[in-house]
Amino acid sequence: MARRRIIAGNWKMNKTPSEAVALCEELKDLVKNDDVDVVYCVPAIDIVPVVNAVKGTNVHVGAENFYIVDSGAFTGEISAPMLKDAGVEYIIIGHSERRDIFGENDILINQKVKKAFASGLTPILCCGESLALRKADTYKEWIERQITWDLDGVTADQVKKLVIAYEPIWAIGTGETATADQAEEVCKLIRELIAKLYDQATADEVRIQYGGSMNAGNAAELLSKPNIDGGLIGGASLKADFGKIVNA
Ligand code: PGA
Repeated sequence: MARRRIIAGNWKMNKTPSEAVALCEELKDLVKNDDVDVVYCVPAIDIVPVVNAVKGTNVHVGAENFYIVDSGAFTGEISAPMLKDAGVEYIIIGHSERRDIFGENDILINQKVKKAFASGLTPILCCGESLALRKADTYKEWIERQITWDLDGVTADQVKKLVIAYEPIWAIGTGETATADQAEEVCKLIRELIAKLYDQATADEVRIQYGGSMNAGNAAELLSKPNIDGGLIGGASLKADFGKIVNA
């Protein structure tokens, strides 16, 4: 079945609110493409200005983090209803930077996936192995374990709407991209796992992205692979290159 392609930028901790609005303006015409879902996942403080800046365009807005409770005494946190009310549609969950730097584990990530769905947000669930696991040739088991834990208790109907991003940690921000074959191998493995955990119809619908130094030069080849339905793009999402990836 034909899955709709999804190209998402992960701005990480970049762009002040005014810089964010300027970037939206710069990219506006470059990211026009009605055959692709285009998403900007932006820092919390940029959400409201970016939602306003992309109004009337084909761009959807995502957030990079939230907490699993609706409101209350959680200093510094942002809730799913707040994101939803601000106009956010997608939410990155389980990014390796949140796992590694902020200590998020699969229990919390699983709670976040369920909370996102319950709140009407679409999770972009990230998984991926370190260089050590890649070298030890245990990366397949690692990815399967991450996805199995992170989707515990998530229904097939929810998984059909889910976006999974395979992001090998050794390729993130390093300029070292997984080859298209390496990326396809794991994206295919993830789809087969979804078929095993759920059923073939669910596996056929779930969208799987590759992320890790994707850029204007390598996007077309990566996106030509049958199990790669899009990209989660860090560095290259902050410049005109992003438009080339959207239209690759
Ligand atoms: P990168 O980041 O494109 O800069 O490698 C991807 C990501 O971390 O989502």
